[in-house]
Amino acid sequence: MKPIFIDKSEIIKRYKPINKYTHKGIQGHALLIGGSYGKIGSVCLSAKAALKTGCGLVTAFIPKCGYEIVQISIPEVMVLTDKEEEFISNINFQILPQAIGIGPGIGQEFSTQNAFQKFLKSNKIPLVIDADALNILSLHKSWMTLLQPKTVLTPHPKELERLIGKWNSDEDKMDKTIAFSLQYDLIVVMKGAPTYIIDGDTIYQNTTGNAALATAGSGDVLTGMITSLLAQSYEPLNAAIIGVYLHGLTADIALPETGYQSFIASTIIDTIGKTYLSLE
Ligand code: AMP
Ligand code: MG
Repeated sequence: MKPIFIDKSEIIKRYKPINKYTHKGIQGHALLIGGSYGKIGSVCLSAKAALKTGCGLVTAFIPKCGYEIVQISIPEVMVLTDKEEEFISNINFQILPQAIGIGPGIGQEFSTQNAFQKFLKSNKIPLVIDADALNILSLHKSWMTLLQPKTVLTPHPKELERLIGKWNSDEDKMDKTIAFSLQYDLIVVMKGAPTYIIDGDTIYQNTTGNAALATAGSGDVLTGMITSLLAQSYEPLNAAIIGVYLHGLTADIALPETGYQSFIASTIIDTIGKTYLSLE
């Protein structure tokens, strides 16, 4: 199966410029669920990246120990907390976001696993699943059937291996990922160099990005970006395609200023503005 290359022309076809008369209430509300003691930074990165990708409102659902960290580091983000101090034990919220991203920094505590299962059983909101939420799914493969069609999964190679098993060549890896996407009707973002977006047996190959992205928190930023686009009512496939392209392009734009070594995940967040301007 030949991939469809995602370049600027493919993005322009899918991209919806901001309407001059929009307001934050119709610009989309993204909910990011994640964090645990020592890993609140992950959800901070996702939440800030979501805001900087254009949605109107962002809420973070985190364990109690993250409350001040998120409120102080990103005043634009609203915060809801679990009753537990150090990890998430029960995902309940009274808000109605247009998209949810779950997983960055969430950990694999037993009660977090149960909370995730309970959440999946009732959730109908467009969803991005990343990081330890993917690893929890790998521990309980039967929970895959709880996922709504076109849920977006963003595994890096190790997370993908836990989900689909070992592969013995790049072709085998692609075949197994396609079979997995078809089986559960999911969008799989196969992160790497390059990143592929798999929607059933259709393969999209991203053309942006560089090795500067091989740094802590880079995937958390991508999760926030895709969740933000979903909240802005992009279809899941387009949210994944545009998110991956913009994430990579941002690294390409920032690299001449930072070099590989000093590029960090926050550099992506600080540079997204230039990326958007380059599309106009
Ligand atoms: P994570 O491992 O979850 O933090 O995600 C890492 C992100 O950085 C993914 O979007 C990868 O595609 C991207 N990335 C990592 N290494 C490279 C590389 N050498 N070239 C391009 N992108 C990369
Ligand atoms: Mg990651």
